[in-house]
Amino acid sequence: MALTGLQIYKLLPASSTKPEVKAHANCKECGYPTCLAFAMKLAAKQAELSLCPYVEEESKRQLEESAAPPIRLITIAGSAKKLEVGNELVLYRHEKTFYHPPGLFVRVKDTQPDAAQVAEAVAAYSVDYVGMSLTLDGVAVEAAGGDFASTVAAVKAACPFPLILMTSDPATAEAGLKAAQGTMPLLWAADAQNWQAMAKLAAQYKVPLVVLANGDLNALADLAEQVKNAGVEDIVLDPGTRGYADSLAIFTQLRRLALKKNERKVGYPLIAFAGDDATLAAQHIAKYAGFIVLDRFDPAMVYPLIVLRANLFTDPQKPIQVLPGVYEINKPGPSDPLMITTNFSITYFSVANEVESSGLPGWLLVADAEGMSVLTAWAAGKFDAERIAKTVKTTGIEQKINHKRLIIPGHVAVLLGEIEEELPGWEINVGPREAVDLPNYLKTRWG
Ligand code: SF4
Repeated sequence: MALTGLQIYKLLPASSTKPEVKAHANCKECGYPTCLAFAMKLAAKQAELSLCPYVEEESKRQLEESAAPPIRLITIAGSAKKLEVGNELVLYRHEKTFYHPPGLFVRVKDTQPDAAQVAEAVAAYSVDYVGMSLTLDGVAVEAAGGDFASTVAAVKAACPFPLILMTSDPATAEAGLKAAQGTMPLLWAADAQNWQAMAKLAAQYKVPLVVLANGDLNALADLAEQVKNAGVEDIVLDPGTRGYADSLAIFTQLRRLALKKNERKVGYPLIAFAGDDATLAAQHIAKYAGFIVLDRFDPAMVYPLIVLRANLFTDPQKPIQVLPGVYEINKPGPSDPLMITTNFSITYFSVANEVESSGLPGWLLVADAEGMSVLTAWAAGKFDAERIAKTVKTTGIEQKINHKRLIIPGHVAVLLGEIEEELPGWEINVGPREAVDLPNYLKTRWG
């Protein structure tokens, strides 16, 4: 549990009972005038404990433990991609932001002849969404009675993404870990029967280990503690729930215990199995899985999931932006229309996609409006006549076209007069309010 400033102060040299340690009290070497001032900064997470060289070992251990994140950061890696999960600080995105999107994995079985082809398809899948390249995160290989080691090796060769090795048999797990050497897979799972052997393997191969209990939170927490005491720090929890209601209740409870009660025993990311149910997977994205395993690779199912994930895991305080500048649509010539909009990613793509899909050529000027949409930017003074004129003058567009006509968004028609003043000699045209009406506007009003 996080310590208060006074609790921290009691662990610093000024409170020590050892004269040789207390002799350093208020020495200012940490950059703060007193130990108490340093304690307050530590409590506010505005200073690093390492700034004081005189903290005793036991105090240091207590302080480091209290400063550890409430949900441990777990890293797994394939040959060319790694995934970090955990380290979340809030229950709701609007409180701050979510930091590490859950990894989406596709399950293959070692009895499946096309396991490597599926893995290849997973690695190749990529979606361009408002300027971001969205992908899946890896493959879960399940031991189902086939040749586990060969399947792991084939999947590893076909897909450079991280793997999850799924077996409850320690001997099979070891064969899979050997086949996956050179990467860092997640090992699923240690349960009440096999945890000692699985913990030994996880420690030996230095991989994170999933701890599995069937719906019993106390059993899950106790098992995680036993695995930790056996030397495995990187733990993922599988509460064993597989339905909507039980998963929602247990995953929320675990997240609350970790964040609000600072319950270290359950301060680990969670793994969820969604089968081929996209709605259940969506629930797990929102609340609160760190790893989500799907039973099959289906682009139609995956697309909405990775877009939902991207939307939830972007920082709400930082709008997604595109670079300001000149964008060419459908190979425009010097006499083709010139439009302007803001650099809020969704605004840009709405306009660009409408014009592009119409087949009409055009120039699109993107003004730096600090990532806001047209109306928001106008209301905030970030998309005014001065900025629009500056964009026209500084982007070099005047050298690319042979006219002086500019189409502004209909939502800022009120700026018409001011822009004409800022851009003497230009004809300013008020375009439609909605991007969807742009093609018709260009066809009927430009020429
Ligand atoms: S370095 Fe700072 S915290 Fe440490 S003993 Fe000196 S004043 Fe106190």
